[in-house]
Amino acid sequence: MRADQVRKIFDGHAVLRGISLDVARGELISIIGPSGCGKSTFLRCLNFLEIPDSGTVDIAGVTITRTGGRWTRQEEDAAHRLRAHVGMVFQSFNLFPHRTVLDNVMLAPVRVKRMPADEARAEALALLDKVGLSAMATRYPDTLSGGQQQRAAIARALAMRPDVMLYDEPTSALDPELAEEVLSVMRTLDNEGMTQLVVTHDMRFARAASDRVVFMDGGEIVEADDPDRLFVAPEDPRTRRFLRSVL
Ligand code: ATP
Ligand code: MG
Repeated sequence: MRADQVRKIFDGHAVLRGISLDVARGELISIIGPSGCGKSTFLRCLNFLEIPDSGTVDIAGVTITRTGGRWTRQEEDAAHRLRAHVGMVFQSFNLFPHRTVLDNVMLAPVRVKRMPADEARAEALALLDKVGLSAMATRYPDTLSGGQQQRAAIARALAMRPDVMLYDEPTSALDPELAEEVLSVMRTLDNEGMTQLVVTHDMRFARAASDRVVFMDGGEIVEADDPDRLFVAPEDPRTRRFLRSVL
């Protein structure tokens, strides 16, 4: 996965000022930085929930380069193909409330991929087992804890067999022990070789679980490094100031 010189302007204000990031297969990258620095916008630009004004995104062999023009039909088609390779998980679990947990996980493979229901069900049950929710398959989302809902949301994203998982503050709405259940699923996926980008305020997780940590400020990547280096000996004064304020 690669982003090259991704720029995004909102109302004349440059929110992303040319973000470039190469992510190797199987890497787990944490993105940290102050509120409003562009973390969510960057994540959303990677799967074209937000359309970058310029720059290139390449995921699983689908490459889209923007050069500032109007968003075309061809680009929308390419974005559709690219999104098929990307699973996204938000802070607010976003499950379908009137569907059981199992249906939530099965729905997209059946509807979007035309997978036979039996096969989708078997795969969904295996995914629910992986995230520790086997016993919850027939429950409705609002009867689950926040941590359980978030794990169901992860299973639902995985059901589309993505190449890359993007998470925007997946544990911010959760109490620490519920957050830990979610983080442990992400560690398992990391061990299985999944490529993952996580916007997080959880510095302990960022330091312990990431292959690399990216520090953003003012719409730029200020530094990106091995967590032990970045947390122990940050190079840029902005990184030092931010870490002092959160650690
Ligand atoms: P937080 O840690 O608070 O979630 P963030 O790093 O995710 O912050 P973004 O949500 O990416 O920050 O926002 C970056 C900047 O872009 C902010 O100044 C925000 O107000 C602005 N912004 C985001 N989305 C829009 C939009 N749809 N229209 C206009 N401005 C926007
Ligand atoms: Mg955000």
